[in-house]
Amino acid sequence: MENSVNGDSLEKLKGLQITSLDDDDEEQEQETMPEELDDYYDDDDDEEEEQESVTLGFLEKPINRWSLLRHLFPSKAGGPPAWLDPVNLPSGRSCLCDICGEQLQFLIQVYAPISEMDSTFHRTLFVFMCPSMKCLLRDQHEQWKRPPESSSRSVKVFSCQLPRSNPFYSSEPPKCNGTDKPSGPGVALCNWCGTWKGYKVCSSCRKAHYCSQKHQVNSFERSFIFLLTNSINAQ
Ligand SMILES: [Zn+2]
Ligand SMILES: [Zn+2]
Ligand SMILES: [Zn+2]
Repeated sequence: MENSVNGDSLEKLKGLQITSLDDDDEEQEQETMPEELDDYYDDDDDEEEEQESVTLGFLEKPINRWSLLRHLFPSKAGGPPAWLDPVNLPSGRSCLCDICGEQLQFLIQVYAPISEMDSTFHRTLFVFMCPSMKCLLRDQHEQWKRPPESSSRSVKVFSCQLPRSNPFYSSEPPKCNGTDKPSGPGVALCNWCGTWKGYKVCSSCRKAHYCSQKHQVNSFERSFIFLLTNSINAQ
C-alpha cells in the first residue's frame, strides 16, 4: 500500500476494499473488513446514497522483516500496530470497546500523509475493532439510536500526525536498507497484546509490562501452560 490517501479520500474509506495478492490464510480476516469500516464511516452519510468502492491497496507479505517497523511509516494489517507517535498512545476508555469494555484489537493502519501541510507531514490512520461479533452487530444496529456525543462503538479509528521535524524520526526519508533507526524510543507496550501502553509492571519479574489486569493474567496462563507441557514432556 504505497499510495497515500488524500484528505478527501478519507471519506471514500467507506468503500475500502482490500484484496490479497497471495492466496493464503489472511483471506479470512479481510472478508470482514469492508463491512466494519462501512459502519464506522456511515455516520453522517445519507443511507440511500450509492456506495462507490475504492481500492486502497493490496495485502502483500513484507519483503523484509524490518519493513513494517514504525520508522519506515508502514501501512499494515494485523499483528501489533506500528504507532507513528510511539509515546502519546490512545489511553483510558478509548482503547476499549464501548460495549463490552474489553481491549480493542488492531485491524489495519494506513500511512496517509497530507504533504501540503507541515503538521501532517506524517499521518497514519489506525483502525481497531472488538473481536466479539456480538459487539460488532450491536454497534451496527444501535449506533443510529444514540447521539454522537454518547456513541457506543466497537470499531474505532485513530488518526495520528507529526510534522517533518519531530522527536521520533529523522527529517530525512528512510534509506530502507535495514539500517534505519528511530531517533527516539517509544513507551513500553503491553507484553501480551503489543498494542496498548504497558501501564502495569509485573510484580515478580519487574520487567514485563501489561496494559491491563486481563492481559497480565492471559500472559501468566500462557507461560504456566508452557511450563506445564514442558515438565510433562521432560518426564
Ligand atoms: Zn466488545
Ligand atoms: Zn494488552
Ligand atoms: Zn513477570
